[in-house]
Amino acid sequence: MDAAVSLFNRLGIAEANAAVARGDGSWTRGHGGFASINPALGQPLATVGRADRDDLDELIGRARQAFPTWRDRPAPQRGLLVRDIAEALREHKDELGTLICLEVGKLKAEGNAEVQEMIDIADFAVGLSRQFHGLTLPSERPQHRMEERWHPRGVVGVITAFNFPAAVWAWNAFIAAVCGDVVVWKPSPHAPLTAIAIQNLVDPICVAHGVTGLFSLAISDDPARGAQLAADPRLDLLSFTGSSRVGGQVAATVAAHYGHCLLECSGNNAVIVDASADLELALPAILFGAIGTAGQRCTSTRRLFLHRACHDEVVARLTAAYAHLRVGDPLQPDTLVGPLIDEAARGAFVAAVAGARNAGGRVLHGGRTLPGPGCFVEPTLIAAENRWPVVQRETFAPILYVMPPFEDLADAIRDQNDVPQGLSSALFTRDLRHAELFLAAAGSDCGIANVNLGTSGAEIGGAFGGEKATGGGREAGSDAWKAYMRRQTCTVNWGDTLPLAQNLHFDLPPH
Ligand code: NAD
Repeated sequence: MDAAVSLFNRLGIAEANAAVARGDGSWTRGHGGFASINPALGQPLATVGRADRDDLDELIGRARQAFPTWRDRPAPQRGLLVRDIAEALREHKDELGTLICLEVGKLKAEGNAEVQEMIDIADFAVGLSRQFHGLTLPSERPQHRMEERWHPRGVVGVITAFNFPAAVWAWNAFIAAVCGDVVVWKPSPHAPLTAIAIQNLVDPICVAHGVTGLFSLAISDDPARGAQLAADPRLDLLSFTGSSRVGGQVAATVAAHYGHCLLECSGNNAVIVDASADLELALPAILFGAIGTAGQRCTSTRRLFLHRACHDEVVARLTAAYAHLRVGDPLQPDTLVGPLIDEAARGAFVAAVAGARNAGGRVLHGGRTLPGPGCFVEPTLIAAENRWPVVQRETFAPILYVMPPFEDLADAIRDQNDVPQGLSSALFTRDLRHAELFLAAAGSDCGIANVNLGTSGAEIGGAFGGEKATGGGREAGSDAWKAYMRRQTCTVNWGDTLPLAQNLHFDLPPH
C-alpha cells in the first residue's frame, strides 16, 4: 500500500472527507468540495466538503447547548480529558507530524515539533486546570472582603492560519477547554486534513469522558465562514490567527457586537547584531529565523540590522551559507527549505523581490522562483532600507532584508520598531548595558524580545503575541488563560451595617 494512503487510513482520512464535525463522533458531509493540495508536489492529497452558513450556524447553536454542562464540570476533571488527548498525541506524533508536512510543506522535523508543541500546551493546560487563581483584595469598608473570580467565558471560535495548522488550535483549544469553554474551529483551507485527523483523535476521548460538543469543526475554503464566526454574537470569544489584513476586518466585525477577540496577526521581525556580538550564535540564529519553514512563520526573521564593526563579515558569511541551502522535498532529511504554500505566495515573493529592486535594493543571493512541480523559491538576501514599503510589510517567504550598517544601537532599535507590526525581536550582544537597553521600556516595542537567540520559535510557557498590527493578543503560557475566562469582582459584607465606598452616607428617609 502507498505510504500516504496507509498514513491517511491510520488518521481516519479518506479520499473524500466530510466537512463538519459535531464533537460527538458524528460528521456531516457539507456541500460541494475542494482539494487539499500538497505544496511540494502541486498535487491533491484528498478532497473535503464545504461547510455552508447553515452548517456553521447549527454548530454554534450546539456549542451553546454544550457549554453549561462542560462549564459545570470541575476544572481538574476538565484537565483529565486534556491529559488523555496529550497521550493520544504522543502516540500519533510521528504520523500527525508527517501529515502536517504533506499538507503545508514543513520539514519533517518541523512537523514533529509542531505536534510536540501541542503536547507541551496540553501538559501545561493539565497543570493549569488546578491553578486558576484569583486575587483577594483589602476592602476600604469594615467587615467586607473583596476577591476576583474567574468564570468560563462560553463559546470560543478559533480561526487558524495555514502555517501552524495544528499547534495554534491546540494553544487555544486546550487552554479554553480547561477554562470551561467549548470550541468551534474553522481551520485554514490549506490544511483541512490536519484538522480532520485531530478531530478524529479527540472525538473518542471526549466520548469516553461523557462529553459531547466540546470540540467541533467546520471546514470550508469560503472566507465567508470566518466572517460568519466573527459576526455571530453567540460567540463569547473569537481567537483569530492570520494576516493583519484579515485580522483588522475580524476585529471590526467583533467590536460591532461588543464581542471579545484575541488577535495573533502578522509579524515583521528583526535581528540586531551589536559590535560585541558572538557571531557563532548570531549566524545560525539569523539563518534559521530567515529560512526556517521557508520564511512562513509569524516569527520569521525578515530584517537584519548589523553594526558597522561586523556588517561585512556577517553579510559575507551569510551569503556563503545561503549558497549551500538545499531546497526541495520537505520529507527528505537533508532538505533545509521546503515549498511556499501556493502559487499566490510565490507571486507575493516575486512581487517583493521586484519591489525591493525597484526601490534600489541589491539582491545578494537568490531572488528567483524554482521550476515546479511545487511552489519553490530561492532563499533570498537583499540589501535594503527599512523605510521602503516592501520592507515595511510582511511577505510570507524566505526573504531577508539587510539594512545599511548602524553605528549606535539606539538608532537600530528605533528603526527596528519603525514598522507597523510588533511581534518578535532579537539582539545579539555581549554588552550588558546594551542588552538592558533593548529590553527596557525604551527598547524593543515587540511582544517578544530575545537576547542572544533568534526571533523564530517560542516556548509555550511564555505568553505569545505581539503589539500594533500584530493585534495585541496573547496565547499559550503565563496568564494568557485569562483571555478565555471572564473576571468577576466580588465583594462580601459580613457585618451588620451597610457602609458605602468613598465615605458616602445613605440612610432610608424617615417615615
Ligand atoms: P490569512 O489571513 O489568509 O487566513 C487566516 C485564516 O482566516 C484562515 O483560516 C482563513 O480562511 C480565514 N479568513 C480568510 N478571510 C476571512 C475573513 N474575511 N474573515 C474571517 N476569517 C477569514 O492568513 P494565512 O495566510 O493563513 O496565514 C499567514 C498569516 O498568519 C501571516 O500573516 C502570519 O504572520 C500570520 N500568523 C500569525 C501568528 C501569530 O501568532 N501572530 C501565527 C501564525 C500565523
